[in-house]
Amino acid sequence: MCHPITFKPGTKIDLQKIDPRKVDGDWEKETAYEQIAEYTKRSRELAYKLYAENKRSVLLVLQGMDTAGKDGTIRTVLTGINPQSCQIVPFKQPSSLELDHDFLWRVHMAVPRRGNIGIFNRSHYEDVLVVRVHNLVPKNEWSTRYHRINEFEDLLTDGGVKIVKCFLHISKEEQRERLQARLDKPHKRWKFSKGDLAERKLWDDYQEAYRVALEECNTKHAPWHIIPSDRKWYRNLVVSRLLLDTLEEIDPKFPEEEEGLEDIIVE
Ligand code: AMP
Ligand code: MG
Repeated sequence: MCHPITFKPGTKIDLQKIDPRKVDGDWEKETAYEQIAEYTKRSRELAYKLYAENKRSVLLVLQGMDTAGKDGTIRTVLTGINPQSCQIVPFKQPSSLELDHDFLWRVHMAVPRRGNIGIFNRSHYEDVLVVRVHNLVPKNEWSTRYHRINEFEDLLTDGGVKIVKCFLHISKEEQRERLQARLDKPHKRWKFSKGDLAERKLWDDYQEAYRVALEECNTKHAPWHIIPSDRKWYRNLVVSRLLLDTLEEIDPKFPEEEEGLEDIIVE
């Protein structure tokens, strides 16, 4: 057992009541990594079939506060999967070209093609998170985005994209330790920017923005999964399992082969 936390569409979510250190069952770091290896092996085989089938795709959306572990999760859950069938897209501050279009323009272009597993490292949700917290566009603009996101995700779902949204839930104290570790270890300093401290001061505003995004965009076709993420190994375990469950549910099939292949001998 290692399930993410999910909610019925339309219900309230209280992030403060969800323990970021929560662990289902009696997992420990070592047993978790053995299990992750097993999950990723099975996912690799299914990803191969998804690619061969070339009809549908998976889109894993990763969101979380700074240091929540988006990069680390990607490294672990995609290990062993054919890189050619993966599309990983990090979303940074929009360029001036991107800002000259609607907020979903760059996102739509980044949706994984048929047969692929795509991962969004941050996503269109930034347009109701950082944008809301800093009022980067007026309220009457960002407040319409929740239902636009729901409609967009509905469109993708109808087109054969299975959307799996994960919120990597960490505590403020865990973030403090991880930011400090970035400062203390010279090889991690490149990940640190002084701006991270200014964002950390807005912790409560971000938690509130996350709560609203999780509640407003928790739809039947694209539900949110809350991943307790203070323990990296548990976060990796839950997301690896979720990817495997998703691929098993899709149940991709090799395409029909041409008739008469069994009689052919290549000379
Ligand atoms: P990182 O994930 O550490 O590489 O940082 C990427 C930065 O880009 C974060 O500070 C995000 O908040 C920011 N970002 C991503 N999408 C947007 C957006 N739509 N508008 C403004 N900032 C964004
Ligand atoms: Mg950063």
